[in-house]
Amino acid sequence: MIFKAKTACGDDADSPIETGLCSKKYVIQCAPTTLKVYRDPAFRDTLIRRSKESLSNYNWDGERRKYLHLVSTLTGVSDGERGGRASLRSGAKHACRVFVTRTARCARVLTGNGATNPVACLRILTYHNIEPDPQNDFSVSPHAFADQMAFLKDHYPVVSLATLAAWVEGRAQIVGTAIAITFDDGFRGIIEYALPALLRLDLLSTVFLVEHAVNDNGAWMGKPALSPADIRAMAAAGIEFGSHGRSHISLASAHLAPAVLEREIGGSKTALEESLGVPIPYFAYPYGTARDIDDRVIQAVRQAGYRLGCTSIHGTNLACTNPLLLRRVKVERADSLATFRELLRGGMDAWAVVDNYGTFLQSKRRTQPFAGADAAPPAR
Ligand SMILES: [Zn+2]
Repeated sequence: MIFKAKTACGDDADSPIETGLCSKKYVIQCAPTTLKVYRDPAFRDTLIRRSKESLSNYNWDGERRKYLHLVSTLTGVSDGERGGRASLRSGAKHACRVFVTRTARCARVLTGNGATNPVACLRILTYHNIEPDPQNDFSVSPHAFADQMAFLKDHYPVVSLATLAAWVEGRAQIVGTAIAITFDDGFRGIIEYALPALLRLDLLSTVFLVEHAVNDNGAWMGKPALSPADIRAMAAAGIEFGSHGRSHISLASAHLAPAVLEREIGGSKTALEESLGVPIPYFAYPYGTARDIDDRVIQAVRQAGYRLGCTSIHGTNLACTNPLLLRRVKVERADSLATFRELLRGGMDAWAVVDNYGTFLQSKRRTQPFAGADAAPPAR
């Protein structure tokens, strides 16, 4: 590992302590990436105190996301508070979400189309991590999550993906608007902070697991992942599970060889069922927008025997919706309860335009599978 701290004027110093006292901003340089950390008196002392002990033990893997996490860990300051490009992007995105949902609300009121929906439909909510003091746009605090679940319990029928599957297969009925709850990526925060609220309110949900995180790594994006024991305990409590692929790569844009594609989709189902002993009947496409899914990917999901495929394209689902191309609605860190209520009424459905045609505005995708993704999955 190479570590150097530089002052804003370019003076090198081996010790971040000496550098920190005189710089206007810090530059943490670690080949091949350089990350600028803007000076803030609130975290300068923390950076100085904790840098030496933490950096020597840090697992560098060359991903910028890891650097950002490192800085958050060192400083205790989240992306949103730190300033710079990350907070600008985060703030602009939040402003867009508020604008889109409030515009949809105005349109609904002005057109008189705000009464009960006469057509049965099902909205699937997408959460990621639930954690105190969330530092990522996709994480939600336990307090906000509990408020959202209480609102759901009081105002909507909440159904499982098993019920959704039966509905699209013509074996169950749904009246009005029903809601399903899903979690992507399998963070351990789900069992720590989401499960208590779900059990207290008797709400069903489904967790989509990254096979590599469960079977090989024990962590995902620098956060603890659900362990096999966690997953078995949650399954016993009624939580359903699906696959989110083996390596969480963009399956359509990676131009994967057929064997690798099969390993990511069908192989992850087999491997998870083998190691966990729980059924994995559903698949959530990693990233899940129009550029991450194509006919080849859908065919692989069908051949693997999944009953449902969940995208990340915003929208609602009708009885005639393709069960392998279900739409979902993302819930994010900055969403107020008022925004959450609008999400449930379709306030973000127009965001499907971005999911379908504006994916260049979204974050970069992983395209390289983890080691072992070209190996044969365990026998069923
Ligand atoms: Zn994901």
